[in-house]
Amino acid sequence: MNALAPLSGLANSACDAAPVIQERGQREVFCGLTGIVWLHRKIQDAFFLVVGSRTCAHLIQSAAGVMIFAEPRFATAILEDRDLAGVADIDDELDAVVDRLLARRPEIKLLFLVGSCPSEVIKIDLSRAAARQSRQHAPRVRILSYSGSGIETTFTQGEDACLAALVPTLPPEPENASHSLLVVGALADIVEDQFARLFDVLGVAPVRFLPMRRAADLPPVGPSTSFLLAQPFLADTAHALQERGARLIEAPFPLGAEGVTLWLRAAAKAFGVSEARFDAVTSPARARAEQALAHYRDALAGKRVFLFPDSQLEPALARFLAREMAMRIVEIGTPYLHRRHMAAELDLLPKDAPIVEGQHVEKQLDRCRAARPDLVVCGLGLANPLEAEGFATKWSIELLFSPIQGYDQAGDLAELFARPLNRRARLEV
Ligand code: SF4
Repeated sequence: MNALAPLSGLANSACDAAPVIQERGQREVFCGLTGIVWLHRKIQDAFFLVVGSRTCAHLIQSAAGVMIFAEPRFATAILEDRDLAGVADIDDELDAVVDRLLARRPEIKLLFLVGSCPSEVIKIDLSRAAARQSRQHAPRVRILSYSGSGIETTFTQGEDACLAALVPTLPPEPENASHSLLVVGALADIVEDQFARLFDVLGVAPVRFLPMRRAADLPPVGPSTSFLLAQPFLADTAHALQERGARLIEAPFPLGAEGVTLWLRAAAKAFGVSEARFDAVTSPARARAEQALAHYRDALAGKRVFLFPDSQLEPALARFLAREMAMRIVEIGTPYLHRRHMAAELDLLPKDAPIVEGQHVEKQLDRCRAARPDLVVCGLGLANPLEAEGFATKWSIELLFSPIQGYDQAGDLAELFARPLNRRARLEV
């Protein structure tokens, strides 16, 4: 087993929380193209055109395999050998692909050119291409670009890059705008609707969401906007919003009955909602969530869980599993740790749970095997070998594809962790 040693100067902002250990080495994560799988469902008249290789096309097709029966809203403009060798004029070829696509699909209102490892290696300037094509296709279609490359990024950063590309296009607030709330981060529509209803009853208004469901519904942003992150991996988007004058409401993330309550309460407080009103509005839904969680507690309490770094949701999930499901945390891996966005989560984590930022996959596997946890949360590439070694695993990508935020989904979130334990228990019998 490899000993874990915190590096100097890497302690959490919360002084009594566990130290953060940094690790560097080979990583096992998907790239940012993966975000297209949930983003294309969210913005219903957008299209994602990956400029990449056949590998990129395979990744996106297999990750979104279930969608191939519908007319897809993503595709790959495949770079051929002559493009890579610099023989062809990439600008002309890309313009022709976009022209054909937009002529054939008049319902597309927002087109993202998505960069990949190959397009970055041969230095295709997609932001210039997007500006050029926007001039040509405005006002019918807006064209933006971002990078989904796997070079030094992890899969949820694709959403961050996409939303950060949208921020400069958001309209300014009108003069004398009233205080408004912007919820930032892709949520399933059903979850978004539940939160919208709760904010409405609380009297927090107006409330808008980014990403928006339709390309034309860009939420205005400015100094009267407070924003609340619904996902923990949106560092660049948050920074871009702050540059536009918006203010961040710091809170834990809306996972589990406690997480949702703290998240909603932070927003309610920023909008002057009284504690009595907050309790009256949220208590029934919170009680339902706690009841749903109780159903899974026997299966999870006391079980030891090891989280590999994948989605950046790991600290929030560990907080939920430790505090609400009484699980014991062996290790919390996270690809990146944004100290400020995670501060409220770090304060709530068990003080003896090691947090490891970055990855050296071999060392981490050694630690996992030595610890023999009851459950391992990890990426698809690690799950099958670990299952073969007798570990129960949960694919972390499922936590992005499933609606898990909000009171009414708290039970479903717990079930996602209880199911593999249940399955393994049956196999062992
Ligand atoms: Fe692979 Fe890079 Fe393409 Fe992702 S963007 S599929 S990591 S080549």
